[in-house]
Amino acid sequence: MKQFDVVIVGGGIHGAGVLQAAAAAGHSALLIERLGLASGTSSRSSKLIHGGLRYLESGQFALVRESLRERAIHLRIAPELVELKPFFLPVYRDTRRRPWQLKLGLWMYALLGGFDASTRFGTVPRREWSSLDGLETRDLDAVIRYHDAQTDDALLTRAVVQSALSLGVNVTCSL
Ligand SMILES: Cc1cc2nc3c(=O)[nH]c(=O)nc-3n(C[C@H](O)[C@H](O)[C@H](O)COP(=O)(O)OP(=O)(O)OC[C@H]3O[C@@H](n4cnc5c(N)ncnc54)[C@H](O)[C@@H]3O)c2cc1C
Repeated sequence: MKQFDVVIVGGGIHGAGVLQAAAAAGHSALLIERLGLASGTSSRSSKLIHGGLRYLESGQFALVRESLRERAIHLRIAPELVELKPFFLPVYRDTRRRPWQLKLGLWMYALLGGFDASTRFGTVPRREWSSLDGLETRDLDAVIRYHDAQTDDALLTRAVVQSALSLGVNVTCSL
């Protein structure tokens, strides 16, 4: 019977990542998936490779820095799978966080990301509001733009498994 250094149960993004890491470290590895690669939450996520903006609020700065670093790596090594997209934060008269607070948060975000180009942000001029589809402009005080990254989560999972396969691991599942 064939023996493996590492056996991984579950072909979602975590299993795929562990498989690739094991293969890259020179271990023989087997991934067992009962349905299909990325058949679980790894094909049903919000499809963001986000920089962890929301963790700023809870003061998890190390986590934000790590998320931004990982995002930058994804953007660099897998540009065909991960792309930057603009996100718009509308601030209405009764929005709890004021524009200066959001900009301060985004400045910290940029700082933690080493002021990389992907952490650029700014205010969308009023004359451009009409170009934002579906935006309610009544009582709107400001619109702030920043960027986050989007992916196809299932494709990304399969790409990581393919990369591991190219390093010589075994996978049993319906690919
Ligand atoms: C609504 C939602 C939105 C999200 N949005 C984001 C996002 O934007 N960005 C982000 O980074 N993360 C996001 N996440 C989190 C992310 O989707 C999960 O962290 C990730 O998909 C978990 O991957 P996984 O490999 O642990 O699990 P899964 O993808 O669920 O993989 C588990 C696999 O194990 C298999 N399995 C289970 N039991 C067995 C068994 N006994 N034998 C063999 N195989 C088995 C299953 O078939 C499945 O394929 C989101 C999650 C949710 C729910």
